[in-house]
Amino acid sequence: MKTLITGGTVVSSTGSALQDVLVDGETIAAVMAPGSQALGPITADRTIDATSRYVIPGGIDAHTHMEMPFGGTSASDTFETGTRAAAWGGTTTIVDFVVQSHGQRVQDQVAAWHDKAAGNCAVDYAFHQIIGDVNDDSLKAMDELIGEGITSFKLFMAYPGVFLSSDGQILQAMQKGAENGGLIMMHAENGSAIDVLVQQALQRGDTAPYFHGTSRPWQMEEEATHRAIMLADVTGAPLYVVHVSAKQALAQIAKARGAGQNVFGETCPQYLYLSLEDQLGARSDEWGGFEGAKWVCSTPLRARAEGHQDELWTYLRTGDVTSVSTDHCPFCMKDQKEMGIGDFSRIPNGIGSVEHRMDLLFQGVKDGRISLERWVDVCCTTPARMFGLYGRKGIITAGADADIVVYDPEGHTSIGMGPGRTHHMNMDYSAWEGWEIDGHVDLVMSRGEVVVDGGGYVGSKSHGRFVPRSLSQNLI
Ligand SMILES: [Zn+2]
Repeated sequence: MKTLITGGTVVSSTGSALQDVLVDGETIAAVMAPGSQALGPITADRTIDATSRYVIPGGIDAHTHMEMPFGGTSASDTFETGTRAAAWGGTTTIVDFVVQSHGQRVQDQVAAWHDKAAGNCAVDYAFHQIIGDVNDDSLKAMDELIGEGITSFKLFMAYPGVFLSSDGQILQAMQKGAENGGLIMMHAENGSAIDVLVQQALQRGDTAPYFHGTSRPWQMEEEATHRAIMLADVTGAPLYVVHVSAKQALAQIAKARGAGQNVFGETCPQYLYLSLEDQLGARSDEWGGFEGAKWVCSTPLRARAEGHQDELWTYLRTGDVTSVSTDHCPFCMKDQKEMGIGDFSRIPNGIGSVEHRMDLLFQGVKDGRISLERWVDVCCTTPARMFGLYGRKGIITAGADADIVVYDPEGHTSIGMGPGRTHHMNMDYSAWEGWEIDGHVDLVMSRGEVVVDGGGYVGSKSHGRFVPRSLSQNLI
């Protein structure tokens, strides 16, 4: 099956040009000047007219948590519903986190995640490994996983008693990363100090979702980020700090990068757009003072008055924010977020955004925050390089997987559950209700197969495959 995508502007991380794309089977066969006959007359079984549209690599969301167990419940998107929603939004690869916590064996958890995902994904998927219990067995597993295409390992400085590693454990895991080339990913918040602030807030009677934000102040993120950078520097391990929300933490990352250290920062759409004041402090008729629970996640949304959001956009433009993922970890209000009525510390942490990342960041292009090319870079190309997928994913070039999005820059997308709006994640609310985007995902192709076409899902859950990853291709 040959498909010719014609008339569109191919956008890469380095430039844009009118080009035709020939897809043969699962891969891209050629990228050509319009009307080019250089390869002889082109015969295609199907032609897709992309006139006045952008043709971009499929999005790579390098931070998702489908079906993740958390606080006595599980993230509400399964691999099936979550990858279908991803496809709707132009994301054709997710990298999900296998979870190992205390008392569990890493390799058992990897097997469990393969079981959950296999045969259930609309688009391709890969895995990172959470090491919640650093011990001899899990350190050995880190070596084994590199050979199995799981080449990045997430550690936690937050959540004492659940995922938190001591500085000594972090150092050991980083030494392993320095040795085997694995990338260390870090949730950088000072969890022990935060737990005290949380208990003190609850004792004062500050139990509403808003206080989730104020009990995790930016100092706790900056301090942990700095500590992680220092530990990485001692060991020589590459470090990728996930979901950075504080501008001060990014300043630490920028400083380390300036000194030539292999340190990278990720942020998420919620930290670029949403805030402590507007969301965590929100009240509605339906939910009253509990509405903010919709946006409880960690790191927390930050105060707009402190200027984090604007600075994050600046760091995104300059490159010290390396890429944008979603940290997609949805929970419904009913029966899930509701567990925290009267005690914000019991609200499951997470926001669902896997469907909207490409659109939300394209709005940044429309608003003059980032260039068109930087949009593709932070959403597709750099995540591919960062996590060892580049060449196969994240680029439109001959030989790459035909993961392609046709994007209409003059289209419009209304996000939310209301009439005429779009939302396909398995949640009973949208964290982005009422957001209007000046662009639209018209068509999505995953390995040569059209999965979303003209506003309809036409894919199948048997399509997506596990993609083994190489070591990072993005180190300094
Ligand atoms: Zn996460």
